[in-house]
Amino acid sequence: MKSIKYLYVSLSVAFLLLTFNGCDSTTNAFNIFSDADDVQLGLDVVTEINSNPSEYPIFRGDPSVKLYIKTRIFDEILASPQIAKKNVYQYTIEIVDRNDVLNAFALPGGPVYVYTGLLKYLDTEAALAGVIGHEIAHAERRHATNRLTKYYGVSVLLSLILGNNPSQIAEIAANLFVGLAFLANSRSDEDESDKFSFQYLQDTRYYPGSVKFFFEKLNADGLITGSGSQLETFLSTHPDPVQRIAVTNQRLQESSIEVKNYTASGEGIFRTEYQNNISSKIP
Ligand SMILES: [Zn+2]
Repeated sequence: MKSIKYLYVSLSVAFLLLTFNGCDSTTNAFNIFSDADDVQLGLDVVTEINSNPSEYPIFRGDPSVKLYIKTRIFDEILASPQIAKKNVYQYTIEIVDRNDVLNAFALPGGPVYVYTGLLKYLDTEAALAGVIGHEIAHAERRHATNRLTKYYGVSVLLSLILGNNPSQIAEIAANLFVGLAFLANSRSDEDESDKFSFQYLQDTRYYPGSVKFFFEKLNADGLITGSGSQLETFLSTHPDPVQRIAVTNQRLQESSIEVKNYTASGEGIFRTEYQNNISSKIP
């Protein structure tokens, strides 16, 4: 009896591996989750975030700040034809009201969060666009569920796809949230997100190398080598910032695009606009 059941399960898994999700055609990574799973997982984590306002207080200041970031920067990047899942995922942007955190993160399936600490620290629209492009790439490239696939492997495949435990996704979302595992991107995921931010931004009004501006500013301010509390979370989830500056410069050179740094102004940077519409409006 036991062996028959085992055989049935094995055959089912083999069948589902062939026909269900398998290798995602847009990301070329093995992922046992469907795009709908990514969306649901993200929404479950959003619920967790909303129920923890002391950790994740949503910005309730001047509403024009979020509206400006959304319509001017976020939607501009999403309009890139390279964002293949814009009609599949639910891309949203939210501001977390914590000036002590210099960070941003993306959830599976599209929700993107930026902290007021980051918004106050950055000084150009290009720099913010670089970060947002990077976060969109994490969702678009499915880094969270690719990682979960590696981590949970076949046991999740069994319970999710064979329907043994339909609440499994919610459970994973809760675990993700508690462990903040969704924040801890690998070095290769970080590099891939930088690469895609660079590519997405080439379809926008923004300077495409701006994904490195934040790191350049941190480096110039001596914050990368220090162990300031503001950066503890950031550096734990975004490894190798100095190396990432060099890699982006290399990409710019290979694409024959002028190498500019975070102090640049002029075309594609939008420094005054950033100050007038974003940073000056956050207390
Ligand atoms: Zn990242």
